[in-house]
Amino acid sequence: MNIPYRIQLDEEQIPTQWYNIRADMPEQPDPCLNPATGLPVTLEDLTPVFCEELAKQELDATTRYIDIPGPVREYYKMFRPSPLIRAYNLEKALGTPAKIYYKFEGNNTSGSHKLNSAAAQVYYAKEQGLTSLTTETGAGQWGTALSMAAAFFDMDLTVYMVRGSAEQKPYRRAVIETFGADIIPSPSKTTEVGRAILKEHPNTSGSLGCAISEAVEKAVSTPNCRYVLGSVLNQVLLHQSIIGIESKAAMDSIDEYPDIIIGCAGGGSNLGGLISTYMQDSLKGKSDTRFIAVEPASCPSLTRGRYAYDYCDTGKITPLERMYTLGSQFMPSADHAGGLRYHGMSPILSKLYHDGYMEAVSVQQTKVFEAAVMFAKHETILAAPESAHAIRTAIDEALLCKKTGEEKTILFGLTGTGYFDMQAYSSYLAGGMTDYIPSDAELEAGFCHLPNVELMRSASKV
Ligand SMILES: *Cc1c(COP(=O)(O)O)cnc(C)c1O
Repeated sequence: MNIPYRIQLDEEQIPTQWYNIRADMPEQPDPCLNPATGLPVTLEDLTPVFCEELAKQELDATTRYIDIPGPVREYYKMFRPSPLIRAYNLEKALGTPAKIYYKFEGNNTSGSHKLNSAAAQVYYAKEQGLTSLTTETGAGQWGTALSMAAAFFDMDLTVYMVRGSAEQKPYRRAVIETFGADIIPSPSKTTEVGRAILKEHPNTSGSLGCAISEAVEKAVSTPNCRYVLGSVLNQVLLHQSIIGIESKAAMDSIDEYPDIIIGCAGGGSNLGGLISTYMQDSLKGKSDTRFIAVEPASCPSLTRGRYAYDYCDTGKITPLERMYTLGSQFMPSADHAGGLRYHGMSPILSKLYHDGYMEAVSVQQTKVFEAAVMFAKHETILAAPESAHAIRTAIDEALLCKKTGEEKTILFGLTGTGYFDMQAYSSYLAGGMTDYIPSDAELEAGFCHLPNVELMRSASKV
């Protein structure tokens, strides 16, 4: 069969339902806990923070397929189905017998897969009659995606942007403002938690965990306002399953089935989405595909973190999730350029990894940028540094195939483009980029802050 470079599905092939992987997991992730009581959260606990439909999706472990609302699917038509591309030129450059495919999610202005969940989350908030949303953004893709969806569905939006990132990426900020959202560099004086963090660390460049604390506080203290999060949560993996469903349809159309699926992992949403339907096969014993999460060596939550209950934010106001974590107070080295800097990991992926259904590797950033530059030259796409983590590992696996002569089929997620990350590219090209690997002692310092759930429960009973 003559396989084209671009395997492009038609508009009618955009899925009509998302896939909820929890329905097929032999064991469920441990429940999310209310930080005040240490007991599993209820719908009533979640609805002051999240809009109702999303709170329901968060807790729904049994409905296997959930309908994509008509207006959301219509919105998707402007940038989906996203292409699946055969990396013929990269294969040739590597001299590998492996077949490499990538699902490219960078074909929209946000430059990433995040628009898939942003559209859904804004739509449900609008349907409920809410008038405004708050969120955090790190590198800026989520803030951009959400500002696009908020503009389209006519919803006010305040974005707490990690200060360091807001200062480094003025144009990213301008894009978000173009779509009409307000940006507040975090930590800020607009919230109690922000003021407290600033008092303790006046010169901090901020962190995602800290921006989350501020956005949540703002949401619960503003009438008709809710908070939305772009990764980690079950609902976000649900929305991102569209990546995997489309990938499988496209691969099926050319009679291909991946031996290895690779994705970068920050909070786990693109990877959880990409593997979704293939993991379903694997959980049912129908395939033995390898699933590989790739994370930065400087923020190694899966490969070196603890599988424990932890806060999702630095300010310790969010519920607790059992996940692989470096501790909610962990801050990656300032030298780290490539995103994926969240301290925790999706509870679903954490559980799959813990139970041996998934592998994880960590890679150093100079190797990541080396891969990104090679990829750009041969495949013409200037990848986001986050996505380049997956490129790195795809190349490494393809080179292994070259050694062994195995003709494996590799699928990886190319989550987005890196036009706002040129400072990092410049630093790499000028030879100024360094690799930082935290010591065991540094990580240990982060684990010290892990909450004691038993204590929490007994304290709340007194
Ligand atoms: C946000 C982002 C990621 C990481 O987030 P996940 O939730 O782990 O997918 C990866 N790539 C790009 C381009 C992103 O914007």
